Amino acid sequence: MAIRRLPETVVNRIAAGEVVERPASAVKELVENSLDAGAARVDVAIREGGRSLISITDDGCGMTPDELEIAIERHATSKLPEEDLFNIATLGFRGEALPSIASVSRMTLTSRPAGQDSAWSLSIEGGTVGKPAPASGGTGTRIEVRDLFYATPARLKFLRSERAETSAVIDVLNRLAMAHPSVSFSLHDGNRERLRLRGEQGDLLDARLARLGAIMGRDFMENALPVSAERDGAQLSGFAGLPTLNRGTAAMQFLFVNGRPVKDKQLIGAVRAAYADFLARDRHPLLALFLDLPPKSVDVNVHPAKAEVRFRDPGSIRGLVVGALKHALAEAGHRASTTVSMAALGAARTEPSAAQYSFAGRPHGGGVSYPPASAYSGRAPGRGLAEAGYAFQAPVAGVAAPDFAPAARADRPEEQAPPLTGNPLGAARAQLHETYVVAQTSDGIVIVDQHAAHERLVYERMKQALSASGVARQGLLIPEIVELGDEDAARLTARAAELAELGLVLEAFGPGAVAVRETPALLGEIDVQGLVRDLADELADLGDAFTLKEKLEEVCGTMACHGSVRSGRRLTADEMNALLRQMEATPHSGQCNHGRPTYVELKLADIERLFGRR
Ligand code: ADP
Ligand code: MG
Repeated sequence: MAIRRLPETVVNRIAAGEVVERPASAVKELVENSLDAGAARVDVAIREGGRSLISITDDGCGMTPDELEIAIERHATSKLPEEDLFNIATLGFRGEALPSIASVSRMTLTSRPAGQDSAWSLSIEGGTVGKPAPASGGTGTRIEVRDLFYATPARLKFLRSERAETSAVIDVLNRLAMAHPSVSFSLHDGNRERLRLRGEQGDLLDARLARLGAIMGRDFMENALPVSAERDGAQLSGFAGLPTLNRGTAAMQFLFVNGRPVKDKQLIGAVRAAYADFLARDRHPLLALFLDLPPKSVDVNVHPAKAEVRFRDPGSIRGLVVGALKHALAEAGHRASTTVSMAALGAARTEPSAAQYSFAGRPHGGGVSYPPASAYSGRAPGRGLAEAGYAFQAPVAGVAAPDFAPAARADRPEEQAPPLTGNPLGAARAQLHETYVVAQTSDGIVIVDQHAAHERLVYERMKQALSASGVARQGLLIPEIVELGDEDAARLTARAAELAELGLVLEAFGPGAVAVRETPALLGEIDVQGLVRDLADELADLGDAFTLKEKLEEVCGTMACHGSVRSGRRLTADEMNALLRQMEATPHSGQCNHGRPTYVELKLADIERLFGRR
């Protein structure tokens, strides 16, 4: 068997297999070239999802006829001036995109450098290069790619529907546009305009915020926290959504390294870790984060598509991302997202049978939804406000009327209630169904799920206590004996030291039972039997691979469930107000441990709209 060199076209097609996976990846390469050429404006047109045509027009620096011929040669690039692979400041550098795309399509490049009075064009078909010829065209470059993959039918077969390919193109453009807010972008799909982003003026941060708003929507802007942090020369900036604004996929997470959109596992992992406390595992926050670091601290040459990067100091980068996000989220305090109250209003307007926690039809493809709350179990979740109103007017015989807080009673004059201004969560006015605290604020009402809120408060206090001196315990007068069965008892006693740190002191008590001597003080009076049984179940589920501190969220959730403020317990006005004040003072109290809101706020203006007063 003779060894021979592969012909250039075959080499290019092999490279194309890596660089151009689908139309969207060709669009990405070509638009990156336009950005590297200093374009202020990039107009994209596609047909059939990019399969029959991709056309990219820019107003960048352009190319002379000679440069056109070199540009489509393999490994020809103007972007590695020092030939230093560890100091890359442009989006491109491999000199692969044009020859690769040209080898699997019919491509025409038309370009006119600034200051020249005519344009030149060059056509390549399936890798066969023509000669540059004079053409008409403004300053800049237009690249037309027809019949992508016609030369590689196997790849053609893997393309998805026109719709799917088009939305992949939109995604690519959105990501590049976020990183380059001063550049104008447009996309036309042959039938209609799919994207138009005007170049934003002003300094980078203002321009970026405006651009993110244009792409991610108003919901995001209203519920995003600014992120800004620096560590070891690496800078992180951008915006992170409140946990209560979450999605079932990570599609609304945009990550950039030195202006390059990336889908990097390490960064995605860091985002996950930062939100782990606030979101169920299958929910994802919305965010756009920009990491900027010296080119020498990151290797972007990991994969031809350049979507992955390698950091010189991954630990430091992870620390930066997790720390910055946690800090931003802590600053948010008790804020829950405005979409929660919007969702509540949506529910109040819909038929009682409509699902309460899913509102997919909202603008900007909102689709914010929450998994059903366990705290609601037993109560029909579909009830709107209107129905609740009927319950007020016509109480069923034998069922107690809603319990109004003493604040509204004669023996507790109104003046004693906390002032409305200065307390964002207002003054408690009533407790309904022994589950919801209703408070009045200066310009609206707040409804708190007392169980969810308390669970969060307990969790945050436990975390704080653990990092400080340890969780305070209170001794039981008589130790409580809990019968469990051998395995459960053994599992609990094996963890006795860890449980003691969390405030629960127990020991083995004969076969199959434990004796509980002390309980976490912050839980108040608890049902010890129930708590210990649930903890035993929890431990069986968790297995042995974890320390309880790693699983603090679950353990605290279980503990808080047995704490004093549960759904179904009547609260005094003082207790309710204390709960509101604690929520205001506690970071992250706007959502429970699973990203569900702990309270909903309705502004008077919204309520007036409900009644058609506006
Ligand atoms: P790379 O971007 O990695 O350098 P490409 O194959 O994508 O490789 O492009 C090769 C070269 O062609 C670039 O280095 C650049 O000099 C030139 N080029 C490509 N597209 C444009 C454009 N839109 N405007 C100006 N020059 C371009
Ligand atoms: Mg390129």
